[in-house]
Formats: sequence, structure tokens, C-alpha cells
Amino acid sequence: MNTTAQHDTKLLTANPQYVAESDATIAALHGPATGIAVYDPSTGEKIACVPDSTPEEAIAAVGRAHAFGASWAEQSPRHRASILHHWYELLIEHGEQLAKLISREMGKPLAEARGEVKYGTDFVRWYAEEAVRPGGHFQTAPDGGADILTRRAPVGLAVLITPWNFPLAMATRKIAPALAAGCPVVIKPATATPLTTYYAVQLAVEAGVPQDLIQVVSTSDSAAFSRAVLADPRVRKISFTGSTPVGRTLLERASKNVLRSSMELGGNAPLLVFDDADFERAIEGTIAAKLRNGGQSCIGANRIYVQSGIADEFASELARRFAEIEVGAGLSDSAKLGPLIDQRAAGQMQELVQDALGSGAQLLAGGHGYSEAGHFFAPTVLDHVDPLARVSSEEIFGPIAAIRRFDNEHQVLDWANDTEFGLAGYVFTQDMDRALNVADRLQTGIVGINQGVPSNAAAPFGGVKQSGLGREGASEGLEEYQSIRFYNISRR
Ligand code: NAD
Repeated sequence: MNTTAQHDTKLLTANPQYVAESDATIAALHGPATGIAVYDPSTGEKIACVPDSTPEEAIAAVGRAHAFGASWAEQSPRHRASILHHWYELLIEHGEQLAKLISREMGKPLAEARGEVKYGTDFVRWYAEEAVRPGGHFQTAPDGGADILTRRAPVGLAVLITPWNFPLAMATRKIAPALAAGCPVVIKPATATPLTTYYAVQLAVEAGVPQDLIQVVSTSDSAAFSRAVLADPRVRKISFTGSTPVGRTLLERASKNVLRSSMELGGNAPLLVFDDADFERAIEGTIAAKLRNGGQSCIGANRIYVQSGIADEFASELARRFAEIEVGAGLSDSAKLGPLIDQRAAGQMQELVQDALGSGAQLLAGGHGYSEAGHFFAPTVLDHVDPLARVSSEEIFGPIAAIRRFDNEHQVLDWANDTEFGLAGYVFTQDMDRALNVADRLQTGIVGINQGVPSNAAAPFGGVKQSGLGREGASEGLEEYQSIRFYNISRR
């Protein structure tokens, strides 16, 4: 049942030239005529097909990548680094094609897709630089009887599974450190957005990555895929980004062969605005933390807590700004908010709004879908949201800002930490002592202080609690693909 309340407001349509350019990029990928269909979420139209691989084909891909693993691991770090540098250059050179492809298959506004190209390629550059620093150290044993030499070796074949919300960045954040460490790779992109992965990997091969070393396996049966590949003894590592329930299933499957596991899972980020915050910075930071990627971000602000002294003014200004946001196709000239990934997601937004209103929330902006084609939902502000409403406990993953008022620091920290998730949190205050004290007590892996977009390739991204295991980005992201070994050298 489509429960979305419909509005006839005019949505911005795609610029035909941009559509034609993305069509040309898609045509050059030479996808099959049948297989998994890929749709444009701003129109619902089919734009391409990619191969629908069987578990047997996935195992064959594991075999091909594995066959190249040893020789890649033996290459010098400098050799691997120079190929990664070249990949980075090609990604930048094809940045516009990538951005339009991302926008076309995922729906985000072109300006944001360009931002993702910058963010996604930053990981390739970062790990090209990290590749030449494989780590390791030397120490003398405390009793003087031995020298201990610690080395880092590639962990082995890595299976990488990515979500649809950042089709480039989620792939490069895994592929680049895996290749830098010396690991072969099998990557399974999300069914909704596989084209960007195929394109980026094609450029990696052009840059000099051996063709078989990096295998893309798209499939409509991801459960059969993971069942098969995670049971294969040649696989040594799983890195997954996606929802917590799927992460749990994969951890169970990974336990059979005791795989190194990195899990970047769901979030329910609290965003705290104190009375003494710089008002404009807090508003802008909240808009970014909430509406970046159409709210479809694991670190998106889910619960917005505003201190009572400024809450009325803050809520009405946020609603005013949300109401001004232009909604439309990602490939339009000026949309700031694109469609949701599919119709189910748009229907889900309507259900969340109805549920919140049913428990006493006040609707200040949006709250509706659109009668036009595509999976759009208006930027929405709800005030006085009940803590038991679904928007408070579930990951919203859409453009709904849910506001609740608080009185003091102690109270808001109790609320903020009252969740099984622990990915990101945000604090807005001009008192730096308070900012750091609150950040220290937030049970999250990431804290944005006076800003709404904390991600950076140089920072160790990841969560605590049920938001995951391991880190991506920074030097920590390379360690996820390395095994630590030591040699004990006797000094008799
Ligand atoms: P999802 O868990 O449904 O799917 C993620 C990927 O896993 C997709 O490629 C999907 O095909 C695959 N998959 C699903 N079931 C599988 C199975 N049984 N075996 C193997 N693969 C399987 O998540 P999604 O809807 O694509 O993405 C949204 C979720 O991802 C949100 O919960 C979001 O918070 C999370 N996410 C987390 C981060 C992070 O860094 N922590 C980043 C982006 C998204």
C-alpha cells in the first residue's frame, strides 16, 4: 500500500544534457541486456542492467582474485602506491562522469555527487600515501635475551560488501586500503547502485591494478553470495557497510572460518544544540547533518535535542529553511534535495511522520510526498517529538528532522546515549570545555563539534556498540587489512 500523502508541488526535473552524459557513461560500461535492473530513483525508469551472478560464479571470482593474491602481496609498497596514485588521477580526470553516474543511479544532487567524488577519491590518495608506510617495529625483550621484530602482512583475500547510499566512497574506502595492504579483493556492490563500482573498478584496471586481482560481483541474491563466499577457505577477511541486522548475519557466517571482520553498521545520531551555541552555525550544521545525502547517511542526525532557551527560535528557523529547499532530480540544475532510493523508503517516511504526529509531535514543515514520478519526500521538521516515537528509536534514513527540547547537560546525555547504536553524535556550543566534556561522554565513535559533516579520509571512521567493529580511513583503516606477526630473534 502506498501510504504517501501526495502534494502537487512542482519538482525540478533533470537537465537533459546531464542525463545524456550519464547515459553515455552507462553505455560505455557495456552491461548485459538482462540481469539486475538499475533504476533512476528520480523517475523510476530503468537505466541499465548488470550481471546477476550465481554463487558458483562468485566462487569462481574468489578463485581468480586469489590466484593473483600472492604476486600482489610480493610487490613493493612503492609499486602498489604508484598504481593507487594513478587510479586517483584517473578518478579525478573522470570526476564529472562519476558524479553524474552517482547522481543518476542514487539520486543525490549533482553538487553532492561531486562532493562524494572528492570524498571517495580522497581515500584512494590517502592509501596511495599510506601504502609506503606498511608499519612494523623493533624492540629488545625486557630481559635482554631476544630481539622482537614485528611485521605487518596482508591479511589475505578480502570480501567487500557496500551499501547504496555512497556508491563511490563506500567502495574506495575499502578497496584502496585492501590494495595498499597487498590484498586481493572481491567486491559486491548494492543492487540499487552497482554502476559506479563497475566504472571505478574499470578505471583501477586502467591504472594498472591486475584485472583479476579485483573482482566485482553483482547479484540479486546477496544471502546466497555471502553464504558461499564466506565459507570458502581462501577468503580471510570480510568488510561490510550496511545495516546492523545484516551485519549480525555476516558476523555469524564469518565466525565459521574465523574471518577478520570490519563492520560499519547503522546509526541513530544525537545532535545537541546548547543555548550558548552560535545560532547560525548550529542551524547550518543541523541542515548539513540532517539533509546531506537526503538524510540517507549512517551518520545523519536522527534525534535533534535543543536546549529550552533557544528551542522555539531554533525550531521555527529550521522549519523556515527546510521549506525553502528546492526538491527535484539529482541531475537538475539546482535541486538541494533529491529522491529517496525507492518507493518503499518514501512510504516509510510517511509512516514515521504519522507515527510521530500520533504521539503528539507538531509538524512545522513538509510531511508529505509528491504526486509526480520518483521517490520524493519533502524536507520535514517535527517538533516536540515523543521519545517513544519511531523517529526517536529507529534509523530514519530520510529528510525528517525530529526535535525534542532539553533542560540540562546531564539530562540530554542520558537521552543521547539511550540507544543500542553508537556511530556519530554532534555538539553545538561556544563553550569549548562543555563541548569536549560532552563529546567525551557521548557513546559514539565520531563526534562533530560545531559542524555537521565530520567525515574525512584522514580520520578513523567507525562506531561503538551495535554500530560496528573496526575503522575505515586514516592509518587505522590500513591495519584492518593487515595481520601482525612477530619474530623472536634469540640473543644468546
Ligand atoms: P543493507 O544492510 O540492506 O545492505 C548493505 C549491503 O549488504 C548491500 O550490498 C546488500 O545487497 C548487502 N546484503 C544484504 N543482505 C545481505 C546478506 N545476507 N549477505 C550479504 N550481503 C547482504 O543496507 P543498505 O540499505 O544498503 O544501507 C543502509 C544501511 O547502511 C543503514 O543502516 C546505514 O546506517 C548503513 N551504513 C553504514 C555506514 C557506516 O559507515 N557505518 C555507512 C553507510 C551506510
